[in-house]
Amino acid sequence: MPDLGSCIPFPIDEETLNEVISKAKDWAIMHGAAMRSKADFSEDSVQFAPFILLPTLFPRREFEKAVRLQPILNELMHWVAHDTEFLRETLANTIKVDEFTRNLFNIYEKILADESAQETRSLGLFRSDYMVHSLELNEIKQVEFNTIASSFAGISSKFHPLHSFVLSELNYADKVKNLPLNGALAGLCEGMVEAWNLQAISNAAILFVVEGVTYNICDQRFHEFYIREKHPHIKVIRKTLTEIHQQASLGPNNELKVNDTVISVVYFRAGYEPGHYPSQNEWDARYLIEKSVAIKCPSIGYHLAGTKKVQQALAKPGILKRFLTDDIKIKAITDIFTGLYSMDSNTDEGQNALRMVLTDPAKYVLKPQREGGGNNVYGHDIPDVLRKMSEVERSAWILMERIFPPISKGYMIRPSGPSPPPLVDLVSELGIFGAVIGDKKAIVYNAHCGHMLRTKLEKSNEGGVAAGSGALDSPYLYDD
Ligand code: ADP
Ligand code: MG
Repeated sequence: MPDLGSCIPFPIDEETLNEVISKAKDWAIMHGAAMRSKADFSEDSVQFAPFILLPTLFPRREFEKAVRLQPILNELMHWVAHDTEFLRETLANTIKVDEFTRNLFNIYEKILADESAQETRSLGLFRSDYMVHSLELNEIKQVEFNTIASSFAGISSKFHPLHSFVLSELNYADKVKNLPLNGALAGLCEGMVEAWNLQAISNAAILFVVEGVTYNICDQRFHEFYIREKHPHIKVIRKTLTEIHQQASLGPNNELKVNDTVISVVYFRAGYEPGHYPSQNEWDARYLIEKSVAIKCPSIGYHLAGTKKVQQALAKPGILKRFLTDDIKIKAITDIFTGLYSMDSNTDEGQNALRMVLTDPAKYVLKPQREGGGNNVYGHDIPDVLRKMSEVERSAWILMERIFPPISKGYMIRPSGPSPPPLVDLVSELGIFGAVIGDKKAIVYNAHCGHMLRTKLEKSNEGGVAAGSGALDSPYLYDD
């Protein structure tokens, strides 16, 4: 893999390195670039979030392309989410075997069939993830599209100032100009506020649906604190699905209430994985929210549009025409897709994909319908996993061409990590945030909202920051 280099000369001598790391860690903790510890959990403390000491090189042309694409992707995903026939066809095989997607889909169908449930607008706070594909002209390719609980807008907004601080400490203040400004937090929050304004219920709150224990607390509280600071009349409350089941009800016109508080916007930071629904109660809570007239972020339609199966279906030739009319937009989106294949056993496409992956597994990633990291199967592990699956089970997975990003060098700083840290080989994944509001007739709000960069060891398959193998970072733009 080609080597990208670094934004300043490496290695940094040990004395300077230790000094700047010590300052950077404190900077991170004191500005909330932080998380609760999993190993040593306490609600009363946070640790700095794993980070890369200096920003990582990213091609300016590709960064700007991803930014330009975001409103187009917002538009695409909005129409996908509102195309009932497309979702039914695309997910038909998946929901036969994948219980989680089936549960979501059942709510979707039940609401469609329910005449008392009026169509409301939906709010999408999305994140489109990319890696630079070094084997194809250093162009970005989409890894996935997140439509639920797109995280790290809050903490990532701290990385421009953190990396500016580190560069300045090392006497490279002149390089700060290559760090793009990041309005991710403001962008997502203003999306929520716009939804709240559209609802026009002066005493209503925004409900954050959360897990029982939140490790990534700063990232969520930043949203809450931003809203209260900039829009002091708007209250945010946090509840788990279990609490919502106990405390929420619908009024005569399907108004959502939690105890006595009217809710006009619901923002899900949980609900994207089976573990968030320990019993039928949590599914009932999700249904209740969906049936309400509150604006959901995401609605079930948006949630389903973000499944990996839908991503794969959108990459089929000619499909984008169903959702977008402008050929330039269609071409721009087609260019960011890598090979994506169905694993259905009853189609030629699925059979071909099976042959391809068994012949050359190193070129692929196998993905189930899950979010949140740690679920995919990579390269040489794929054949064994496939052999253990029935043909029906296989159809709930998709096959994706592996992206091979260029390698950069850097120092990964993590709590209780080695001191001084070694200079290691890294690869990065760029996320671009977007916000959209609309219903089946029209889009009324569509914005690009900043970015995040996540960087992991070149050798590890996945780079989950909360999971412990990746670190937060920011892009250092260069012209290639
Ligand atoms: P999740 O919903 O679990 O986040 P992703 O599709 O984002 O699923 O995959 C998780 C991680 O796996 C990504 O962040 C990336 O590091 C790696 N990954 C996923 N798809 C590919 C791919 N096609 N090529 C290389 N790495 C990939
Ligand atoms: Mg992901």
